[in-house]
Amino acid sequence: MLNVVIFGPPGSGKGTQGQKIAEKYELEHVSTGELCRKAIHTNTHEGVIAKSYIDKGELVPDETIIDMLDSFLEKLPVGKGIIFDGYPRTVGQAAALTEIMKEHGTKVSVMLNLEVEREELLNRLAKRGETSGRSDDNSGTIQKRLEVYDERTLPVIDFYKKKRLYKAVQGVGDIEEIFDRACTILDKIKK
Ligand code: AMP
Repeated sequence: MLNVVIFGPPGSGKGTQGQKIAEKYELEHVSTGELCRKAIHTNTHEGVIAKSYIDKGELVPDETIIDMLDSFLEKLPVGKGIIFDGYPRTVGQAAALTEIMKEHGTKVSVMLNLEVEREELLNRLAKRGETSGRSDDNSGTIQKRLEVYDERTLPVIDFYKKKRLYKAVQGVGDIEEIFDRACTILDKIKK
């Protein structure tokens, strides 16, 4: 079974590439950012907690995110591979994912890290902010999200490097070009 972690800083294209990979390899696409936005929209207890962090550009606490992920995964069909988009964002979440996958009798196959330079990220996020309607796509929050990424999320790379599951994908160029790079890696793993 193919289970993919699509990783990278805010604005690196995780959502776009995650969707495309999910479609091609028939994987369930799980975005914890989307789970948070849905919870906010439906005004659940978890949504209220999530909103207070998201609006400041901070990470939602591990416990809340892991609970949301757990209940989402429980509803998924058994035996289908998964692509995790925007999760894990801390080493604690990465360790929790190892356990969760074990409980489901499977494991993470690969982590794809979309590499994009900071200046390009800032340009993309500012552009996205003009149309996304996302409360966290404004310049102050964007800066904070990138700082949080450096401090808390970057160490996740080492976690997967140690497990020899890490693969870098150059995240610049057009969408299809980046997708092809990701597919080259995934096709090798699937064999
Ligand atoms: P995203 O849609 O992945 O960019 O996520 C939007 C926001 O949701 C992030 O900036 C965080 O505040 C929150 N969020 C999403 N996924 C996570 C996660 N795995 N851990 C903590 N916070 C998260």
